[in-house]
This record gives sequence, C-alpha cells and structure tokens, in this order.
Amino acid sequence: MTAQAPSRPLVTSAPEPGAWPALPDSLVAPLLRSAVVGPSPATVRTVAPFTGDHAATLPISTPDDVAHAFAMARRAQRAWSDLPVKQRARVLLRFHDLVLEQQASILDIAQTETGKARRDASEELADCALTSRYYGIAGPRMLADERVQGVFPVLTQTRLVHHPKGVVGIISPWNYPISLAVTDALPALLAGNGVVLRPDLQTTVTALGLVSLLLEAGLPEGLLNVVIGDGPDLGPHVVEHSDYVMFTGSTRVGRIIAQQCGERLIGCSLELGGKNAVIIREDADLERSAEITERASFANAGQLCIGTERILVHESVVEAFVPLLVARLEALRLVPKVGWGAGMGSLISAKQLEKVSAHVDDAVAKGALVLTGGRPLPEVGPFYYAPTLLRGVTPEMALCREETFGPVASIYTFRTDDEAVAMANDTEYGLNGAVLTRDVRAGAAMARRIMTGTVNVNEAYGAAWGSLGAPMGGMKASGLGRRHGEEGLIKYTEPQTISVQRLIGFGAPFGRTDEQWAGLMTTAFRSLKTLRVK
Ligand code: NAD
Repeated sequence: MTAQAPSRPLVTSAPEPGAWPALPDSLVAPLLRSAVVGPSPATVRTVAPFTGDHAATLPISTPDDVAHAFAMARRAQRAWSDLPVKQRARVLLRFHDLVLEQQASILDIAQTETGKARRDASEELADCALTSRYYGIAGPRMLADERVQGVFPVLTQTRLVHHPKGVVGIISPWNYPISLAVTDALPALLAGNGVVLRPDLQTTVTALGLVSLLLEAGLPEGLLNVVIGDGPDLGPHVVEHSDYVMFTGSTRVGRIIAQQCGERLIGCSLELGGKNAVIIREDADLERSAEITERASFANAGQLCIGTERILVHESVVEAFVPLLVARLEALRLVPKVGWGAGMGSLISAKQLEKVSAHVDDAVAKGALVLTGGRPLPEVGPFYYAPTLLRGVTPEMALCREETFGPVASIYTFRTDDEAVAMANDTEYGLNGAVLTRDVRAGAAMARRIMTGTVNVNEAYGAAWGSLGAPMGGMKASGLGRRHGEEGLIKYTEPQTISVQRLIGFGAPFGRTDEQWAGLMTTAFRSLKTLRVK
C-alpha cells in the first residue's frame, strides 16, 4: 500500500448547493477509477428525481467487463488476504475519517441521484461511518484463529481458522446508496476478500465516490471493482463469477439470486422486503409515538426496507393519536433541492411513483379513507407523492399485504396485546417491528413474540439497525443471512478446522481388542460428561 496523500475534496467542481442541475462529466470522470468498462463503452443517462432532468452520463459495463472485474479482484485479493488483519482494518478506520471529512460532497451527490431529503442522506452517511468504525475496531478479534476443545482433551488440539471466500459479488439497491453500496463491502474486505460491486444504476455515482474514498484510504487498486449497468443485465454475470453473493433488494429478485447461487453451490446473504408494523399500546406517550411513527413511515419518503407501513393503534387511543400524526405529516416541508431544510424528499423515479399511486388509488377505490395526502405532487417535483395516511384498509386492497415502498401508511386498531402481535405477524415478511409503550417490560415481552429479525421498543428502526454489534436481517420472506455483528463478518469467510492429534489415536492401542477399546471409551465419555464444552 502506498502512503496516503492529504485528503482532497471529493468534488472539486461543485456548483452552489441548491443549484445542482446535474452531476457534470468533470465530476464523474475522476470517480470512474474503480469502474470496469471497455474502451468505448455504451453510455446511459440517469434522471435527477428533484427535477426530472439529466443527472449523470454513465458508461456501461459488458459481461466481459464483469469477467475482467472479477479476474482483477482475484489477483489483488491474494496479496490483500496475506496482510495482517489489523493492517486491513486501518483502511476501514481511515475511510471512516474520510467519509466524515467529505460528507458535504457525498450528500450532494446522493441527493442529486435519489432526490432524498438531506436529513435522510445524512442518516445513512452516519451509518457508513459507524459501520467502518465498528468493523475496523471489533473485526480483527472476530477473525482471529479460535481454539476449540478437541475430541480428546489435551490430546487433540483444534483450531478454527477463517479463510476469505475469495471474491464477493455485491448487488446493492438505490434507496440507501451511501450506506448499502459500501457497508456490506467493508466486512467482506476486512475478511480478506476482493469485491465486485454492482450498485443500482441510478445511484452509481454515489457508490463510485465512496469507493474512491476507500482507495484514498489505502485500499489496493483492483481489489474492489465497480461494474455499471442494469440489474437484470449484469446481475446474472456477477453471480456467475462470485464466490459469495450479498444482495439487497426485493423478495422477487432475491428468489432469482438464491436460485442462481443454489445452482452454483455458493452461499448468499439476502436482505429483502418487509411489511413492517409498529404497535402503539394504550399506555404509549402519544406525542412521542407520533414523532417516532412519522420517521418510521416517512423517512426517505417511505423507501426504507425497515420502515413501517402498518400502524397498529390501541382502539382506546386511536382518535387521540391520528390528529397528532396528521398534523406532523401536513407540516412536513417538501423542498426539491440539494441541501438542508426538507422534511421529506422525492420518490426515486416515475416507476416508483406509479406503484405508490396505484396502491393508494386501488385502496381508495375499494373504500379506504384518506386521512391526509393521497395524491402525487407534480407542483413540487415530478416524482413527489404527498405523505399519506389511510384508514379502513382491508385485505383485498393491494397495499394491505404488499410492500408499497412509498410515503404511505395505514392505521389499524386492536384491543389486546395478543391481537396486536397476531396482526403484526400476519404477513409473509419478517424484517422489522416496533412496540411503543410506557411499560418497557411489557414491550420487550411483546417484542419476543413478533417474528421479525429486529424489533425496537420505543423506537421504530434506528435503535436496532444502529446496534451494529447485533445481527440485522429478515425472517420468513424478508431474507436469508444477516448483516452487522459477528455474523455480518464471518459469513464472508470459509471456516476451516485444523486438529492436531497427539500420543494416542483413534485405533485400539497396545494390543487391546476393539471391544476393550470401546469399553475404555465408554468409561471416558462418562467421566467427561460434566466437562464444559465450548
Ligand atoms: P429490486 O429487487 O427490483 O432491485 C434491487 C436491485 O437489484 C436493483 O439494483 C436492481 O437493478 C437489481 N436487480 C434487478 N433484477 C436483478 C436480477 N435479475 N439480478 C440481479 N440484480 C437484479 O428492488 P427495488 O424495488 O429496486 O428496491 C426496493 C426493494 O429492496 C424493496 O423490496 C426493499 O424492501 C428492498 N430493500 C431491502 C433492504 C434490506 O436491508 N432488507 C434494504 C433496502 C431495500
């Protein structure tokens, strides 16, 4: 690795904040250092959601480029995995500092590509920094060789060794591009792997910017390569060359990836969709519940996998709660520009707007009541949709069970804790849940009965997501495997058991018969029964 030059601004030609019509080629070109594209690639123009105008022009990778990206990563990976893990960890810790230093540029780019409010982009930037710090500090201990009790105490010495998988393919979505494009790569790299990243096409520049900071932090060239293109075109080629796949996206595509990985007998981690519920108990602080629920359902304009689309309220407090939430939603500022000040941003695309509108229109046509919102806001921006709260949603309406992934939540009522838990669990998904209550013990007891990978008490998603030492992921149709914690790192390794046998072996010793040896073993097993096993 080379000595590091002082950090330069990631964006050197930034227009005034608030006046970004597009990401100019002069900004994109230097960030393409980690991209693998041919000499005269086809190009594609992405759309800036705030305005509907041009966001960036990007070169497109071909299947051959994907193969080349893997070959380069495979070459670089050998030397990288030979480095002491603490040296690899230093790259993550330096990256942490660079992300914080360069946050203004990263937020500008991410807002331009996604149309999200800066407060949402800022939340994911914090996640990116915290994850690099967490694995940079805690990761080396998790990867260290482990002594495990051997079959014969003292006579069998056994060690567990963690080898990197090789080259990990990461396919990441558009909704949290600062966080999801790199935070899953960080533990893969720390474990000694190379990475080929296929970020969502719409948010490729954000990913390239972050990878350029990783290079500046000391990551060797060629170890993490970005391929650019549409998921259905490039995704199968990424899976074809990977030794392990990390995918974040819908359950529908997760199933396709799982099939491809199954064919190749490689592992995968799938972070998929959700239809999450927040339960507001009778004793909950209603003002606080309205604040938490506003963030839970409308952060990132509802395009948040662990966000809440179902608000379950105790029937005795629903009439008091609803006006508090409606007032908050109607006060949300919608400001279509790069910079601070907006409470909620735009949807990412015309496709997403179409899906959200279709869900709400279907519900309204079948009798749902709109408490606030319920329509697109073209007067604000081409893909904006009003923060929407519905009541009277029934199972024949699509948004009752399907993930809407927009700024739309529905109120349901319950009478007992048991009923609330049953309603929360009445979904094919199992990603995230929440209980709001003044009785924390009762809330924690209910949490155990909610079948989701994470449950928050008196928060909706940040408490569990941000607890980086604990695994995060989905039960049921919400996924396979976990990110965060030890599981989020060790999944990128191939465990190997090395046992050294001393003095006696497994055959009958000293001229004893097999029967005598079996008898001796039986006596030994009985005396060893109380020995602690690790
Ligand atoms: P999607 O599954 O359609 O797309 C996700 C990504 O996969 C995109 O970048 C897309 O280009 C790519 N893709 C599409 N087809 C592919 C294929 N055949 N092979 C490989 N890649 C392919 O999902 P979306 O609607 O764009 O994203 C929103 C979904 O992602 C929601 O369901 C949301 O809940 C989920 N999500 C989950 C998490 C999580 O951590 N559980 C986080 C963010 C988003």
